[in-house]
Amino acid sequence: MKQAQAVRERWSEILATAGLFMACAAAFALLSWRVTAEVRQYSPEPQYFEELTHVGVGAVIGWLAGGRRLAGLGILLSIGIDADHLGAVLGLPTLPRGSHSAIFIALVCSLFWMLGTARVLRVAPALLLAVLVGAECLNHIGVDALVGQGDFPIYAPISWKFITFDRVQGAMLLTGAVGLALWGRLWSRREERATKGTSD
Ligand SMILES: [Zn+2]
Repeated sequence: MKQAQAVRERWSEILATAGLFMACAAAFALLSWRVTAEVRQYSPEPQYFEELTHVGVGAVIGWLAGGRRLAGLGILLSIGIDADHLGAVLGLPTLPRGSHSAIFIALVCSLFWMLGTARVLRVAPALLLAVLVGAECLNHIGVDALVGQGDFPIYAPISWKFITFDRVQGAMLLTGAVGLALWGRLWSRREERATKGTSD
């Protein structure tokens, strides 16, 4: 009974974290409201193979960072950045892929780190959560470039110009995401050992 409640609580934390991340991605893309019609025409078709790859790689990155406990959150974060398509889907004059941006990634990692530090988000230690968010964003853009279209407004909202990444750059981003996830895993293990050491 207690175990079922713990699982329920854990999943509500995971869903709240992923929901906030998706809301951030959708809101950030609204900043593209005023971009020129020429740029706004960019509208990738939904690619089902690509989405499945985001699910699989997202799970692996989450698992590398925090084992089974973070694999589910990893999937939701990996596909969640595509919430930036929402405005365009609803017919708003905003850019799909508006949050596939280095500035968005830096902002959202900082935000989740702060919310983790303030214990508002408790799904993982603050630094591990920020690292996971960063790794999932990098993995997502890497996979987009590897198996889909590699055009991103990477400097948004300073510039909404789409920059093209080739497959080699996609593979590099994916490698960076794996490295980041492993670093997060090592860091949290060391922290755990340190706190165990002090409580002994
Ligand atoms: Zn995407």
